[in-house]
Amino acid sequence: MKLLVVNCGSSSIKYQLVEMPQERVLAKGLLERIGERDSRLVYNTDFKQKKINRPIKNHKQGVKLIINTLTDKKIGVLKNIGEIKAVGHRVVHGGESFSDSTVITPKVLKTIKEYIDLAPLHNPPNLAGIEAIKEYLPKAINVAVFDTAFHQTIPPAAYLYALPYNFYKKYKIRRYGFHGTSHRYVTCRFAQLSKKPKNKISCITIHLGNGCSIAAVKDGESIDTSMGMTPLEGLVMGTRSGDIDPAIIFYLAKKKMTLKEINHILNKKSGLLGISGISNDIRDIIKAGKKGNKRAKLALDIFAYRVKKYIGAYLAVLGECDGIIFTGGIGENAYQVRELICSGLQSLGIKLDRNKNRRVAAEESLVSSRDSKIKIFVIPTNEEICIARDTYQMKLKSMKRKRT
Ligand code: ADP
Repeated sequence: MKLLVVNCGSSSIKYQLVEMPQERVLAKGLLERIGERDSRLVYNTDFKQKKINRPIKNHKQGVKLIINTLTDKKIGVLKNIGEIKAVGHRVVHGGESFSDSTVITPKVLKTIKEYIDLAPLHNPPNLAGIEAIKEYLPKAINVAVFDTAFHQTIPPAAYLYALPYNFYKKYKIRRYGFHGTSHRYVTCRFAQLSKKPKNKISCITIHLGNGCSIAAVKDGESIDTSMGMTPLEGLVMGTRSGDIDPAIIFYLAKKKMTLKEINHILNKKSGLLGISGISNDIRDIIKAGKKGNKRAKLALDIFAYRVKKYIGAYLAVLGECDGIIFTGGIGENAYQVRELICSGLQSLGIKLDRNKNRRVAAEESLVSSRDSKIKIFVIPTNEEICIARDTYQMKLKSMKRKRT
């Protein structure tokens, strides 16, 4: 059975065509700069790579181009579009309504729309992707896989902010957490690698990409995570500040900055970029740090220090911890960052094998030393395969229901 996995960002669409249950990726691609004159699709199959440069106005046009490419006589991998039986969509915010993936019905669609208020940057492009797929693939079932779902097991003591309680009831203000599909994927992989059932695993999963978040996982379930009501809270990120004293916002407002400007600064001009003044990409910062740039070094130190602090907090929250897992572009590739984060944690039972760690980039590997009480793993994330698996299960269920 062929499934399409779709991840719509504000100006991009990432997708994979996957054959299930073999989990074979038949084609994948990334369409970027939607809405600009220089939109670009990079499309890959086992035997070809093709770049298409053409202005794409919106997500609907983008989906059309993707479908045309998949069925193209020369570069396509499908005879006709009807071969796609189901489509899995990454949806960022499912609020408290979804603790699992779900088939998209009109009611589900309405609920995702209601969460636009909480995720104004993310849910609208996700919805645009769903609407376009519904139009061009009317026979396929659509499944939503939520970034927030894995964190719905977090207990109230960890998800409530100490604000007036009715803010939670009235405005839905609480910690939701994000990157859930990634935290879930690496937790499952860690359980497999440890040869334990998932519900017997306790670990700390650290997703360090453009966005960064960390989760405490007890008996296979998320019990706390660093991102909050929005993805702005928690760790230092490429351009986001993560945790700050909320009073800084009032102080900046007093200095005549508008809320819009402050919002922009906290989301787009802070984090690694803000501190270093160089880049949001850790590769540039590591390079500059090596050349002696002080602010680059400081950015790395602040980034690692925040992760270290959360590891300490989550060890306290978990009590027992079997493993620490690094994932995401930085977590998988930047051995220097893993080294900085783990340094000085020996007394907590966390000991990196320095040589092994230095050799590992973008591959699944144990990087702790033999005598480390807590295992340290690098596990490349694969949110797409999680989405494909959930979508496949939903499709099988719907076929069974039709038969009975
Ligand atoms: P996203 O959160 O958008 O999915 P990724 O998980 O791909 O992003 O992470 C992107 C970040 O990972 C880049 O900004 C860069 O800092 C870092 N990164 C990617 N490749 C490498 C590499 N080879 N070495 C070090 N850092 C890397």
